[in-house]
Amino acid sequence: MAKRAKYVKPASRTIVEAEVVASKRISPGFVRVTIAGEQLSSVAPMGADHWFRFFFPQAGQTELRLPSAASNLWYAQWLMMSKDTRPVVRNYTIRAYRPAGSGLFGDRTEIDIDFAHHGDSGPASAWANAATEGGRVALLDEGRIYNPTPDATWQLLVGDESALPAVIGILESAPADLRAEVFLEIAHDDDKQDVPESAGVNVHWLVRTDADAVPGVLALETVRAAELPTGTSYTFVAGEQALTTGLRRHLVNDRQFAKSNITFTGFWRHGHAAG
Ligand SMILES: Cc1cc2nc3c(=O)[nH]c(=O)nc-3n(C[C@H](O)[C@H](O)[C@H](O)COP(=O)(O)OP(=O)(O)OC[C@H]3O[C@@H](n4cnc5c(N)ncnc54)[C@H](O)[C@@H]3O)c2cc1C
Repeated sequence: MAKRAKYVKPASRTIVEAEVVASKRISPGFVRVTIAGEQLSSVAPMGADHWFRFFFPQAGQTELRLPSAASNLWYAQWLMMSKDTRPVVRNYTIRAYRPAGSGLFGDRTEIDIDFAHHGDSGPASAWANAATEGGRVALLDEGRIYNPTPDATWQLLVGDESALPAVIGILESAPADLRAEVFLEIAHDDDKQDVPESAGVNVHWLVRTDADAVPGVLALETVRAAELPTGTSYTFVAGEQALTTGLRRHLVNDRQFAKSNITFTGFWRHGHAAG
């Protein structure tokens, strides 16, 4: 039998350009930036946690210089660019995709990105907070990481705020009969977003009370102590690295979950810049 692919990759990948058409602080912890462009129509929306590499100018730069190579060669080319002029690259999730003709801000294809705001310590967080109309950006489609095992009878979905767009995207794309336990850790009560209601899905919002706590610790402790359904499951966990590795270890060692039924992705690492 053919081995099941780990990820769902897009059919073709090139860096496509777009511009900022809107930016809004939607809640205390999130900035939603909408980008639009004719070239975005080449991104075929896959739903769920569809993610991309996001290119934007360094602070103080107005020009966006981009690698021109397609596929994986872009990275070697990016490394060869001078540190002063190359763009910043970070990873983000498609929170909403509106094809050309159905946009909120014009006729071109639009993508919403929800940035978890963590101050100005990181270039992406700072960029989103200051994003203005007309800002040039680019993205490289990467497809989906979420890829449930077909024999799972229920799903465990866990994330901190960086994974909120991914987990809500998964719920929005899910079949109506999905059975899932969902644990979402956020910094503020007002960061809760609407999730599709369905009988088999229990969403547990976990609001941090300690402003100095490392994101992800609360989610890990809560799931560790939780009573979970029985039967074959599929787990998707994303967020701060210690959450993802810690949860996988717990599920495998303490609950005997099969490793092959767990997708865990460190979206960021406390105290370390990406890239
Ligand atoms: C597949 C994928 C999809 C992602 N989708 C999203 C998304 O839709 N929305 C989103 O907000 N994030 C998302 N992330 C996470 C995002 O890429 C990282 O948080 C990224 O490091 C932010 O870049 P930065 O330039 O702001 O900070 P960096 O320069 O990477 O880091 C600077 C400092 O900020 C800290 N830091 C980084 N991220 C956070 C955070 N979220 N909270 C608190 N401290 C942080 C670091 O530990 C470091 O000390 C995704 C990551 C992956 C891998």
